[in-house]
Amino acid sequence: MASSTTTHDEAADEQPEPESALQTARRQLRHAADHLDIDDNIVERLQHPNSVHEVTVPVERDDGTVEVFTGFRAQHDSVRGPFKGGLRYHPEVTRDECVGLGMWMTWKCAVMDLPFGGAKGGVAVNPKALSDGEKERLTRRFAEEIREVIGPTVDIPAPDMGTDPQTMAWLMDAYSMQEGETIPGVVTGKPPIVGGSKGRDGAPGRSVAIIAREAVDYYGKDLGETSVAIQGYGSVGANAARLLDDWGANVVAVSDVNGGIYDPDGLDTHSVPTHHEEPEAVMGHEAPETVTNGELLELDVDVLIPAAVGNVLTADNVHDVRADIVIEGANGPTTSTASEVFAERGIPVVPDILANAGGVTVSYFEWLQDINRRAWSLERVNEELEAEMLAAWNDVRAEYEARDVTWRDAAYIVALSRVAEAHETRGLWP
Ligand code: NAD
Repeated sequence: MASSTTTHDEAADEQPEPESALQTARRQLRHAADHLDIDDNIVERLQHPNSVHEVTVPVERDDGTVEVFTGFRAQHDSVRGPFKGGLRYHPEVTRDECVGLGMWMTWKCAVMDLPFGGAKGGVAVNPKALSDGEKERLTRRFAEEIREVIGPTVDIPAPDMGTDPQTMAWLMDAYSMQEGETIPGVVTGKPPIVGGSKGRDGAPGRSVAIIAREAVDYYGKDLGETSVAIQGYGSVGANAARLLDDWGANVVAVSDVNGGIYDPDGLDTHSVPTHHEEPEAVMGHEAPETVTNGELLELDVDVLIPAAVGNVLTADNVHDVRADIVIEGANGPTTSTASEVFAERGIPVVPDILANAGGVTVSYFEWLQDINRRAWSLERVNEELEAEMLAAWNDVRAEYEARDVTWRDAAYIVALSRVAEAHETRGLWP
């Protein structure tokens, strides 16, 4: 296992968009630091991960051959608690991507005031090309390779792209077998039967809906008279759509990878099949009009929620967006240039690290349940999530109002000031 640190990428601000995850994370850190009176040494320290573990993962394929994959665990910062963040299986997983996404997790946990730091990891592999048996062997071997650097008080992985609750159950089992006892708190996002939390799957979409509701109220609108367009009808998009619909909003357009449907009178979101109920079936649902994914982003609506993939709001389309408020459901849907143009145009963009943080927040609840060996009801999970989201919203809103910055800057300021203060208070060891 090799550990290393990274070097500062001086060219970060000169790259054409979209930037890499690491460039974006570093730029946002420096930008937030400009607003705060923080020791430069702490900012310099936070540009770098605490450590990056790179491992070799040999896996026996079903035909008896052995294929060797590369896995990573980038641990960015743990000043406020154990590292926390997803594990992804994707062919394009790289060391730098894990570092950048791990940094994002530090801010996401801090803006939510969770007692966690940030990490991200994964294996460079196409999970669709693996059988279930191969996936299980890959996961167990990867768990063994990173066993010494994870643990319920050290670093707690969770599902991400290409991994799911079953992956987490295998990882937890592999870790527990080696430790000689069942340790459910080593990962979150597990199936409830082995210590997962109720409400975890729907949590990111629920937090997006809560933040959208608060933003609508903040800008003096009535949710009952608010039109909403949502790109992506999977875990995040569909859960947010259905909750907002239940709370009285008019969800007029939703889409999947093939395109979207539009009804100015409002869609019955519960009858539109989600990605998990029936993959890519949105276009098959009856509606007065269809729209492309590009057109959906430019609809004249009150609230736009990009909840599919990153980098969809760019220099090319930002001038054509007609929504009054943007709530980021996906991770990184708005490029840096588009963020600047939204700010110039006076269109508020509530950032991903706040809006979709319901996932990591319920992961925290799962960890608490595992440590205490006591499961919570769905009602309790949802009530506590509501309270955590409102607290974070109020903290970010206070900075937004006090400093006359964007919502993204306000969220980063809240997060960075917590992390920096913890560093200052603990001091540099030795
Ligand atoms: P998902 O796989 O459940 O659903 C994705 C949806 O987006 C599907 O409807 C798919 O058809 C659609 N889609 C895919 N590519 C598209 C494209 N190019 N244009 C338009 N639509 C497209 O995914 P999810 O879990 O809902 O995640 C969506 C986003 O939210 C991702 O950015 C993810 O990183 C982020 N996110 C997810 C979670 C989580 O726990 N699920 C938490 C936080 C953030």
